[in-house]
Amino acid sequence: MKIHEYQAKEIFASYGLPVDKSYVCKNVDEAVKAYREIGSPRAIVKAQVLTGGRGKAGGVKLANNEDELRKHAAAILGMTIKGLKVDRILVGQAVNIASEYYVSYIVDRVSKSTILMLSKAGGMDIEEVARTTPEKIHKIIIDPLVGVPDYLAREAAFKLFDNMNQVKQAIPIFRKLYKLFVENDASLAEINPLVLTDEGNIMAIDAKMTFDDNALYRHPQIASLFEPTEDEKKEQNAKSKGFSYVNIGGNIGCMVNGAGLAMATMDIIQLYGGKPANFLDIGGSSNPTKVIEAMKLLLSDKNVKVVLINIFGGITRCDDVARGILEAFKIITTDIPIVIRLTGTNEKEGRALLEGTDFFVAETMGEATRKAVELAR
Ligand code: GDP
Ligand code: MN
Repeated sequence: MKIHEYQAKEIFASYGLPVDKSYVCKNVDEAVKAYREIGSPRAIVKAQVLTGGRGKAGGVKLANNEDELRKHAAAILGMTIKGLKVDRILVGQAVNIASEYYVSYIVDRVSKSTILMLSKAGGMDIEEVARTTPEKIHKIIIDPLVGVPDYLAREAAFKLFDNMNQVKQAIPIFRKLYKLFVENDASLAEINPLVLTDEGNIMAIDAKMTFDDNALYRHPQIASLFEPTEDEKKEQNAKSKGFSYVNIGGNIGCMVNGAGLAMATMDIIQLYGGKPANFLDIGGSSNPTKVIEAMKLLLSDKNVKVVLINIFGGITRCDDVARGILEAFKIITTDIPIVIRLTGTNEKEGRALLEGTDFFVAETMGEATRKAVELAR
């Protein structure tokens, strides 16, 4: 789960990390009020959307006076960045930046550890830096039993700074950021940029955090910040009905019993040159209401051109499933072709029940998938 910069900055501040003074605003009037509150002529106006790269998209602007502030606030509040509407902005005291650095803690799959990532080449081009000059990014693996003691934070600080005053400021920042990362079950805590100001202070002027969804139950306050996208709303809704659903973006809707089979189904669709629209595990049982709910979910995705129902009958019997499907389709009307593959317990009986219907019935996964891919074209 992601949170906004202003929310992450509140968490940062509660851990004693130096962040700029800023106010979240929903309209131009609030922005003007915040600007007067800040009381310095130069202010920064930043779009609050759950994506990075706001600066490059024009969502971060410096204002030198109240007129400019109004202009920027109005413009940014009307923007859409990477498909996300900006409904909030952050108005903060502008900082005089001498240099920008990159700092983050992230769960790294390669080392199977939390790592501290650091770079002197922080700022808006960090992705480019990572791609073209990866040697400019330092990675320090954190041993969870040791954490980030003073000596390690010092070693890290020397990778960015040679001035002792700056090193001394950086050490507690790296230690507090780690504490915050661990205590909140974050999967990312990132400061980009961490800046050195003209006055010689080090501070975070951006803050990004993502959290491990599986640990959110331990952090109700963070969980309450969840602002689902349309896709995430669908996933939540599916979860409440006992399904596990993830939208993938292709055009072959999949309805499968069992997570392993659902994964295999997605793989085989790709293998035959198709694109799965989703992962959907409806679990066991042949209950018609479940089939109806699952079909509604699949058909609400306008990209879906064909539905592939892939069922392996173990304890669930294929004839029960066939009856459930027939029952469900008395209620559902759709022009979208449905391919059904039934195998396992009572498969012959199941397939016999579907004979003479509009469904495309298959026995093997290969046969069913080829048919679905062909129909999707
Ligand atoms: P992002 O593009 O979504 O990561 O947004 P950031 O918050 O990182 O802002 C993008 C860039 O705007 C930063 O890299 C800075 O160069 C600049 N910026 C942000 N805040 C300030 C500020 O207070 N003063 C100045 N001069 N520049 C700022
Ligand atoms: Mn940033």
